[in-house]
Amino acid sequence: PFDVLVVGGGPSGASAAIYAARKGIRTGIVAERFGGQVMDTLGIENFISVKYTEGPKLVASLEEHVKEYGIDVMTPQRAKRLEKKDLIEVELENGAVLKSKAVIISTGARWRNLGVPGEAEFKNKGVAYCPHCDGPLFEGKHVAVIGGGNSGVEAAIDLAGIVKHVTVLEFMPELKADAVLQERLYSLPNVTVLKNVQTKEITGTDKVNGITYIDRATEEEHHIELQGVFVQIGLVPNTDWLRDTVECNRFGEIIVDKHGATSVPGVFAAGDCTDSAYKQIIISMGSGATAGLGAFDYLIRN
Ligand code: FAD
Repeated sequence: PFDVLVVGGGPSGASAAIYAARKGIRTGIVAERFGGQVMDTLGIENFISVKYTEGPKLVASLEEHVKEYGIDVMTPQRAKRLEKKDLIEVELENGAVLKSKAVIISTGARWRNLGVPGEAEFKNKGVAYCPHCDGPLFEGKHVAVIGGGNSGVEAAIDLAGIVKHVTVLEFMPELKADAVLQERLYSLPNVTVLKNVQTKEITGTDKVNGITYIDRATEEEHHIELQGVFVQIGLVPNTDWLRDTVECNRFGEIIVDKHGATSVPGVFAAGDCTDSAYKQIIISMGSGATAGLGAFDYLIRN
């Protein structure tokens, strides 16, 4: 059996595995795809101490660092069940069962997609999901934010300070964000809010040049010229496979304490799949380190 088995090979999983392996204990990573969301990222400008890098390049360095420690990396493998017996068992979709004294879950999250034409095509070419990551790329430009919940309105307020103009599109007749956020939003001179509208298409040639939406009251179609679209309709944690096993919050995020421990003894979690605030590479690596050390601490006490 492993001493520490990490499920998920994004930045949090890599960090957790390195911290564990540096204690001289038997460590493994099982992941569907090494690198996680970072593999889908083009430019990265907020990984502190590195002014600019690109997703696949950062993933290559992560992989190189992980390989320094003889960590057993098993990909592409999807976990489908976790059970605590004497040891903790992780069953894979191919039927294999891995056993470990401690497990760190770092299965990340995925942005909910709009599913309209142009979204996939212009991803990283004007279609973005993370205002903290990509906001500065749109300085002086006109962007749309799709989604009028808390994250959409927070994104719009944030972007309004950087870009020239922000148009918020909300499907329902009212914004769902907290009143204080809405007040702030409506106080900004360079924000337009469109409610009761359905995004039909993101248009462009080599990159985004506009958005087409339908006014749901009149069924009229409209087109706005703009250069960026931030989709803010939810970040879904990849935790469906263990919601009956570890305690999650109402968003499906795994609840962890300050050592990265979950509700199941010996099971730790890190990164975007947890209830941590703000989902970023540097934050997920930090929580991976916490979970790696938390798991080691657990092992020496049990
Ligand atoms: P992830 O990166 O999501 O990794 C999850 C891992 O778990 C993957 O290996 C996946 O294959 C695996 N996995 C999932 N389910 C299973 C399963 N059932 N069994 C086995 N393996 C599983 N952050 C920044 O700081 N700066 C940026 O510029 C930036 N840009 C971004 C751009 C895009 C397009 C996206 C999508 C995200 C961006 N982010 C950025 C956010 C950042 O990528 C995430 O916060 C970070 O990757 C989270 O790391 P993680 O290890 O928790 O999860």
